Order: sequence, then C-alpha cells, then structure tokens
Amino acid sequence: MGSLELRNIRKSFGAQEVLKGIDLQVKDGEFVIFVGPSGCGKSTLLRSIAGLEDVTSGAVLINGRDVTVTPPAKRGITMVFQTYALYPHLSVRDNMALGLKQAGTPAAEIDARVAKATEMLSLEPYLKRRPAELSGGQRQRVAIGRALVREPELFLFDEPLSNLDAALRVQTRVEIARLHRQLGATMIYVTHDQVEAMTLADRIVVLNGGVIEQIGSPMELYNRPANLFVAGFIGSPQ
Ligand code: ADP
Ligand code: MG
Repeated sequence: MGSLELRNIRKSFGAQEVLKGIDLQVKDGEFVIFVGPSGCGKSTLLRSIAGLEDVTSGAVLINGRDVTVTPPAKRGITMVFQTYALYPHLSVRDNMALGLKQAGTPAAEIDARVAKATEMLSLEPYLKRRPAELSGGQRQRVAIGRALVREPELFLFDEPLSNLDAALRVQTRVEIARLHRQLGATMIYVTHDQVEAMTLADRIVVLNGGVIEQIGSPMELYNRPANLFVAGFIGSPQ
C-alpha cells in the first residue's frame, strides 16, 4: 500500500510563494513523474511529501492517513537524491544498514534486507568499499539500495540520474523501471529529461511556477497537450 494525496499544498519561503495550491492523487503502485523548468518547485514538492519541508498550508495524506505534521522517519517514505548523500566514512554495506540500525531493526533482519538489496542491485563486489572508491553510477546504486532496505511504501527520486553520463543514465533508468515492476511500490520521480519521463511514467505531472499545468499519461500529454507550455515541454509538434 502506498497511495498519496496532496490537498491544496502551498509553500512559501519568506515572501516568495513556491507552491501555489497543488492537488494530486497517486494510486498505490503508480509511477508518477514531475517535470518542469528549473526553479518551478519540483524539489520543494518532493521534500514536502517526504516531510523535509513544512508546508505553509494544505494536507499530505499517505494511505488515507494525514501525515502533514508527521516527522519524515514516520511517513513510510524514502528519498533518493541527485547527489547520492552517502556517508563517506562508511562502507557500502554500512551505508545501506545505517538507517535500519538507527531505527532499531534487529541485526538478523538488517542482514537479510541488505542481502536482498545487494542482490537486486548487483552490489556484492562493492560491499566493503567506501563511496570514494566507487563510480558515480555505483554510488547511485548504493543510494537506491539504501532506500530499498527501508522497504518503503513510497519512493521519492529527485533527479537521480542527472550526475551520470549518458550510458549510465540509460542503464540506471532501466534498473529503476525493473525495481518498480518487481516491488510494485509507488514511485514519484523528478526529472527534466523528457526521455526519462516518457519511458518511466504511468502519469506525468507538468509543473510551472508552482502550479500544475497538466497531469496525464505520456501519450495523453504528447497527443493532447493542454497548452503551448506543455507542448513545448513534451516536444509534441504544434
Ligand atoms: P526545482 O527543483 O523545480 O528546480 P526548487 O523546488 O528547488 O525548484 O525551488 C523552487 C524555488 O524555491 C526556487 O526559487 C528556489 O530558489 C526556492 N527555494 C527552494 N528552497 C528554498 C529554501 N530553503 N529557502 C529559500 N528559497 C528556497
Ligand atoms: Mg530540484
């Protein structure tokens, strides 16, 4: 179970209103992608869902439960960042295990979950290495592994491929699609890459200046863009 509902989410930083009333419903198991120009509020929206930002008004519901003021660790969500955010002094294995350890998960359970994520992401050869001894693609796989072991109902990804070169981007994208199929988990994913959006998404949410311009399947947006902004973004001929 991992449904999400956003009700009229607003968020201001000082006098600047960054999210101007976002309404969205995401079904359990759906892969939803947020696209939009730099600065339009994509990361702020993800961080608000995760509880890393307090919203100014509105409500966040997960599985029908209002979590608007619930701390991040209690939302059943985990987030994968563009910059990996791994601990440099810890091995790959310990990076994956740390969150579980902090949550008081029994050692045998931690071992089992880390082993499973290691297998799903082919991380076995790297378990004893530190992040500095890995390539960018390997680091991002560790970051995804660290999210996997939490067994969240909802995965949030903030431009997870944007620091990778073209070949690794394709490979990691395919891997994320496979994980989505295998886990059946709900995934919400920010990108500014059209190909990523078109290939991964069940539905795409087009954001612009803190509002939603359009929500639809990749083909709906491509064939019937609501306006010129969406058409320009999705690349459909005018
Ligand atoms: P995106 O991810 O779409 O590029 P962001 O959500 O990061 O956009 O940012 C949206 C706007 O909010 C930007 O104008 C940004 O400068 C501003 N912003 C984001 N985080 C903060 C913050 N912590 N304090 C002040 N302004 C912020
Ligand atoms: Mg961002």
